[in-house]
Amino acid sequence: MRQKLAAGNWKMNGTKASLAELDALAKAHPDPSVDILICPPATLIDRAAQGVQGTGVGIGAQDCHAETSGAHTGDLSATMLADAGATHVILGHSERREDHAEHNKDIRAKARSAMDAGLVTIICVGESLEQREAANTLDIIGGQLSGSIPDQSTGENLVVAYEPIWAIGTGKVPTLDEIGEVHDFIRSRLEHRFGEGVGRSVRLLYGGSVKPGNAAEIFAVSNVDGALVGGASLKAADFSGIIDALEAV
Ligand code: PEP
Repeated sequence: MRQKLAAGNWKMNGTKASLAELDALAKAHPDPSVDILICPPATLIDRAAQGVQGTGVGIGAQDCHAETSGAHTGDLSATMLADAGATHVILGHSERREDHAEHNKDIRAKARSAMDAGLVTIICVGESLEQREAANTLDIIGGQLSGSIPDQSTGENLVVAYEPIWAIGTGKVPTLDEIGEVHDFIRSRLEHRFGEGVGRSVRLLYGGSVKPGNAAEIFAVSNVDGALVGGASLKAADFSGIIDALEAV
């Protein structure tokens, strides 16, 4: 049985005042039956991690550098993020692939470093609208999986998030069949590469315009073990509805 995971990505949103949302979230789910994770901006990780101690909410980061330390102005290493209290890190989000020209090999190097630092690594994959319309979705996802995921991956240190780029922040969501097709494909690729045991133990998240109103039907799709949520993770009340739906699966 894979433990379900509801992960929130706050992106470049949030100041100290936003930590009240974390308190509200922890209070709303005092004894969650699923893993709950919030990835705030790096400026809040230390405070957030202290604030959620003893609750069912975990704290993650949104990116890390591939090196442990050194002359990389403005960057943060996985070791530093773990030291600040992060337990997870999102890597290869499409916004980083686009805004920072991150390629699969960069993401693989970051993931290696994150796993070495003891972080659970949430690697994002997903196709653009043009790629879907050209019927290239599975080829693109397959290339991202083999290029971004390091050999040392296990069910404990790796989570894969399928996030169609055209569904992120747009209110558009693939059909349930489309989500199921990609998740089944990811599962089979992981089983093929890592063997059935490891391949079956890696959690697969869907991400892209998940809201309280559509979460239940998405969570009912095979091989969907939770969600990576952007906009609807900013407010505890919205994210709570998604957590409730995941707990009800
Ligand atoms: C995301 O950015 O990872 C995401 C899924 O965003 P949203 O939920 O806002 O579509």
